[in-house]
Amino acid sequence: MEQKINTLKVVDAQENYSGLVYNFGAGPAMLPREVMQLARAEFLDWHGSGMSVMEISHRSDEFMSIAAQTEADFRDILDIPDNYKVLFLQGGASSQFAMVPLNLLADKKSADYFHTGTWSGKAVKEAERFCQVNVIADPEVGAGGGQMMSIPEQKTWSLNSDAAYVYYTDNETISGVEFPSIPEVGDVPLVSDMTSNLLSRPLNVSRHGVIFAGAQKNIGPSGLVIVIVREDLIGHAPKHIPSMYDYAVQAKNDSMFNTPPTYSWYMSGLVLKWIKQQGGLKAMEKLSHIRSGKLYQVIDDSDFYHNSINPKYRSNMNVSFTLNDDSLNEKFVSEAKDHGLVALQGHRSVGGMRASMYNAMPEEGVDALIAFMQEFECSNG
Ligand code: PMP
Repeated sequence: MEQKINTLKVVDAQENYSGLVYNFGAGPAMLPREVMQLARAEFLDWHGSGMSVMEISHRSDEFMSIAAQTEADFRDILDIPDNYKVLFLQGGASSQFAMVPLNLLADKKSADYFHTGTWSGKAVKEAERFCQVNVIADPEVGAGGGQMMSIPEQKTWSLNSDAAYVYYTDNETISGVEFPSIPEVGDVPLVSDMTSNLLSRPLNVSRHGVIFAGAQKNIGPSGLVIVIVREDLIGHAPKHIPSMYDYAVQAKNDSMFNTPPTYSWYMSGLVLKWIKQQGGLKAMEKLSHIRSGKLYQVIDDSDFYHNSINPKYRSNMNVSFTLNDDSLNEKFVSEAKDHGLVALQGHRSVGGMRASMYNAMPEEGVDALIAFMQEFECSNG
């Protein structure tokens, strides 16, 4: 194959390889090294087809087999019951902020939303275009400034029995607040944005009507959003909505109403195989607790670093923290980078630091971060 590419200089990726860094970015995020190596090995010639997956038609037998295997592994890992469809769509997780109300409202006029941070806040804003939104937890009330430091106790929730669905963001990626368990909401369909923690722990899918996740954190590259939707919730969208936004159209066409993001779909398939090899979601959960547990411990033991989230609701994926002297932020980020620890700055809306540690982050990455943090504290504390 390489001889055909005579106008481009083909360089061995290894030749230009400048070494390993641990990427703590919130997404697109680090992918497992073994997956990247396999993708590189298969890049020019997928399984003897003479083509890259990027060049194969989505309707070809080759891609159909990749798509089917990816879905089968996804269902297997999450133990998804047969009465749920799995859709591989485009438009990112943000597209679901609109698709959920468009498809689930049916003849209802309102929906309940937990507003626990930035991403649920965006979902609330989008839903308000389509229905009356009953906000259950509201960080705008009080000192939260758009972020919750905790999730209010269940006894304070005023759920609306006539709501079409109840919506929550399982893990708020920016502040690092995570629901420790699935909220109890009675018979109303439950919808969850699990963009930043799907596949990080075992999950009871059957407690939900819809679960969705942008791929770019725990699943694969960006460009893909995976939607798990209970079959009885499909087919209620009003006729005037765009076909692309109708779960029924996407389900009927096996997510191939148009050209899907084939390469992201394929890469996600490799990641799923990797998760299985590691021991599935129980192994992912164990590793996530080890990583976040170690880091929170170091933060809590120090007067130099601080995390303000109620420990019961602290995220296992995104650990946010501040330095007791803000003027050291830039120095911290730049010296961390020199140690091969990149993308530690917090989201631009909140500042501070954030270490995002998805499935692909090895324990050694966190150990390296902790060693650096302790050294930085000694020199600057
Ligand atoms: N929900 C959550 C929890 C997220 O973290 C993000 C992205 N960081 C989104 C939604 C939006 O995802 P996308 O950019 O794929 O639309």
